[in-house]
Amino acid sequence: MTKLISTNPANNYSFLGEVEVSSESEIREKVALARKSLENWRVIGVKKRTKLLQKVYNALYQKRKEISQLACREMGFPISQQKMFDLGDGFAYFEWYLKNAEKYLSPEITFENKEEVHKVYFEPIGVAAVIQPWNFPFCQWSWAVVPNLIAGNTVVFKHSEEVPLTGRLLEEIIDSCGLPDGVFSEVYGDGKVGELLTEQKIDLIVFTGSCKTGRLVYEKAAKKFIKALLELGGSAPGIIFDDTDIDSAVEHVYDARFTNNGQACDGLKRLIVHESKFGQVVEKLKQTLETKVIGNPLDPKTDFGPLVAKRQQDLIISQVEDAKAKGAKVIIGGAVPDKLKGAFYKPTILTDISTEMRVWTEEVFGPVLPVISFKTEKEAIKLANDTQYGLGSYVYTKNLKKAERVGSEIKAGMVSVNGTNYVCPFNPFGGYKKSGIGREHGRYGLHDLCQIKVIATGK
Ligand code: NAD
Repeated sequence: MTKLISTNPANNYSFLGEVEVSSESEIREKVALARKSLENWRVIGVKKRTKLLQKVYNALYQKRKEISQLACREMGFPISQQKMFDLGDGFAYFEWYLKNAEKYLSPEITFENKEEVHKVYFEPIGVAAVIQPWNFPFCQWSWAVVPNLIAGNTVVFKHSEEVPLTGRLLEEIIDSCGLPDGVFSEVYGDGKVGELLTEQKIDLIVFTGSCKTGRLVYEKAAKKFIKALLELGGSAPGIIFDDTDIDSAVEHVYDARFTNNGQACDGLKRLIVHESKFGQVVEKLKQTLETKVIGNPLDPKTDFGPLVAKRQQDLIISQVEDAKAKGAKVIIGGAVPDKLKGAFYKPTILTDISTEMRVWTEEVFGPVLPVISFKTEKEAIKLANDTQYGLGSYVYTKNLKKAERVGSEIKAGMVSVNGTNYVCPFNPFGGYKKSGIGREHGRYGLHDLCQIKVIATGK
């Protein structure tokens, strides 16, 4: 393959454009250039790096409409949501790093008395291979690349093969900002190119994507004896207790499950409802979905665009059909819409769920929500933890002591109580179990991208 073709999943996979696939020698050269630029990028220090990255921020901000339009065309994000959760969040995180990196990357005194002083330093790790998925095309770039650059690492970036045109647009904009040569570059292609990138002389892998690929990437890192930070899949539980304000909980559940057509790693993918509220919650969710518009992602009124690609539509169909065959009841949706040509799937609520169904055991990356009931708190926690994943989780109750107790029992990196609000630049983001290794963001995430050194000095 020498060309990577981008197609429109909302318009019968019509041609959008193409980019050249990076050859092995090109990948090697980009990594070599990233290594050459490393020392200069380190010694200029965080203040100067921040200043240079502010220019990148400004240039991207000027082109934000173009980025939005292209990203939505390539992967189907409804544009009103993309502006908030991809573009908006991407810039918010970028801004946070510009404002806070210097504070968190400055040496920290851990001990001092008359005889000695102990200081911790945060140094760059080196050349980072940054490999990302398609589901938040701008945010994934901002989340993974900005903290690396500000920490002093140089980056060779590969965006997903589903959004090559967005990747190229980002590279063109960044190239116009006058960063030193080799500090940031991109390679283009599918998993093969990603694999080649992980085989080069790199010092760190920052990977976001599926667990399956994460494992392969981790093996490559192990062979090289380098660090790999892995942000992987999820199947977040949401527990609704009987004392909850149901109207408010259903609104949050809707957002947490159905934003971006259900294609968010930490999206609420399994709903666990107290038996006394089960009927009411299911009915309200159904009524909510009945008001939603499915169609052209570029129309600001659209709530649901297509899935990213045909293969993703096929996967969702097979997961829902498996549930139906095993006795699940379709409350709403459960099929491909008749008139739309592309990777569309109707937003779906399923009940009569058993924990052997694929919609329960696998990550469902689309607009499908299985709902199950519970009697006791213990049972709810057991159901919540009945997954190979451990990224996000959601708890709805008016009893905040109970929320904290339950939150501390859930095996996940993040718990949102009565909302959807843990995704903030100052919070660490990452998972337990197969959802990943390491944390992104906040000072914890920033420090994960650094070599941490102690200088202990006798006075
Ligand atoms: P994917 O694993 O198929 O691909 C991710 C990236 O890895 C792509 O750029 C791809 O080209 C590349 N790749 C594929 N094979 C490779 C290999 N052998 N070596 C190196 N790179 C390779 O995932 P996807 O379908 O693009 O993304 C969806 C998944 O990402 C979901 O599971 C979702 O939950 C997860 N995700 C996680 C987070 C998080 O922060 N935890 C965020 C977004 C998405």
